[in-house]
Amino acid sequence: MNRLADNAERVPVLIAGGSLVGLSASLFLGRLGIGHLLVEKHPRTSHHPRGRGNNIRTMELFRTAGVESAIREAASVLADNHGILQTPSLTGTEGNWLFREMDPGARPPGSALPDGACAARTTWSRCC
Ligand SMILES: Cc1cc2nc3c(=O)[nH]c(=O)nc-3n(C[C@H](O)[C@H](O)[C@H](O)COP(=O)(O)OP(=O)(O)OC[C@H]3O[C@@H](n4cnc5c(N)ncnc54)[C@H](O)[C@@H]3O)c2cc1C
Repeated sequence: MNRLADNAERVPVLIAGGSLVGLSASLFLGRLGIGHLLVEKHPRTSHHPRGRGNNIRTMELFRTAGVESAIREAASVLADNHGILQTPSLTGTEGNWLFREMDPGARPPGSALPDGACAARTTWSRCC
């Protein structure tokens, strides 16, 4: 028989993993007032980057949750980080740079839109 320990905590939602999906779920559940517990097996953020940017729709959702400016501030340390290096090894210099010059997400919020661009109130953001 399954029996919870006397000091066990019951929560409506258990979120396993505190990365992009888990933290976003926690943020949006919290805004709805839904109690939850997030568990993450690592004590800190990953050493390996797993995101170069958040697209416009993602940033719109983060803006509604009030965290857009915090994300941009955290991402500002990567302002000079351009392009993707496609490489067979993390230790060498061999590889091909992709998108090194072209960076459509570099438009600062509030600046003029390029011709034909849709008028979203926010922009692509680098990941932090
Ligand atoms: C090189 C690279 C570049 C990318 N670039 C982009 C990009 O520019 N933009 C974009 O949107 N996406 C990008 N992605 C994809 C993006 O990183 C993933 O879609 C995203 O990380 C998935 O998030 P997730 O929370 O589902 O999973 P993960 O990020 O894999 O996180 C899972 C979390 O769960 C934790 N966990 C696992 N098992 C347990 C357990 N048993 N108990 C507790 N915690 C546990 C892990 O420690 C981890 O923190 C990129 C991915 C890679 C690899």
